[in-house]
Amino acid sequence: MNNMYSQIMLEHSKNKKNFREIENPTYIERGHNPSCGDDLTLLLKLDGQIIVDASFIGFGCAISKASMSIMIDLVKGKELKNALDVVDTFFKMMHEEEVEEEKLYSLGDAYLFESLKNVPARIKCATLGWHCLKVVLDKSKNAEV
Ligand code: ZN
Repeated sequence: MNNMYSQIMLEHSKNKKNFREIENPTYIERGHNPSCGDDLTLLLKLDGQIIVDASFIGFGCAISKASMSIMIDLVKGKELKNALDVVDTFFKMMHEEEVEEEKLYSLGDAYLFESLKNVPARIKCATLGWHCLKVVLDKSKNAEV
């Protein structure tokens, strides 16, 4: 792990601003990673198509919490369809699919998890929160119809 990576990871895993409970969340989605013991729950509040607030609770390793927190920073204030775009880009990156450079930039700090894509045990930690968000986005899509 390079220095910048561990520094940002540490910063995010210590930062508690997204680690809280929000009132009246629209969606609550729990994610569990048995291989590491991560058990995190994403809370998301929508106003129409906009993610007005998001947070998470639970317990997990530094990677899972940092990734969840970075993801929340990225999608808060975004429209659902734009959040879905970010999530798709992240999964493509982790699965080594081709991604436009411009889209990778849109991942911000989440780009750092790219270095974990060859560490199967850690991929689950890094993608846990993103799986929760994907489930929520799919649910909200179905709710629209
Ligand atoms: Zn973990």
